Amino acid sequence: MEYEFHAHRITGGIGADDRFWESLEEGEFRLPRCADCKQWMWPAHFRCGHCGSWEQLWEPVEMSGRIYSWTRAHYAFDRTKERAEDVPYVVVVAELPGADGARVVGALAGPDSGVRCGVEVRGHIDPPSAKSKGYPAVRWSVVD
Ligand SMILES: [Zn+2]
Repeated sequence: MEYEFHAHRITGGIGADDRFWESLEEGEFRLPRCADCKQWMWPAHFRCGHCGSWEQLWEPVEMSGRIYSWTRAHYAFDRTKERAEDVPYVVVVAELPGADGARVVGALAGPDSGVRCGVEVRGHIDPPSAKSKGYPAVRWSVVD
């Protein structure tokens, strides 16, 4: 895949996940996978930790999985002041079987009464907003 270098999507990041953010901006959910040994590489790295390859594929992944972990924020932290009106809110780590169990963080959309580890979730992409500091955002919802 041709890759054009530009400023990193996430302030302070090293850019290994730039394609992730670009994909979200395009309304697509993609995760990196080694082009040689096919190992999923999430969180993103420049080099495959399994075989050492520098080649990656950014493959579409179904936004469907189970809650691996979650937490409820009861405080508007300095770096998340934009979400103050949402307090308390839940952040989920979802484990995705479509990417060999890669775990992806996102805020919970909808009611949080059914949130428990192991519960099925589906994801969607919120467009960039002030609440997400101008970045697109992965959101998870509990499947009833
Ligand atoms: Zn590899």
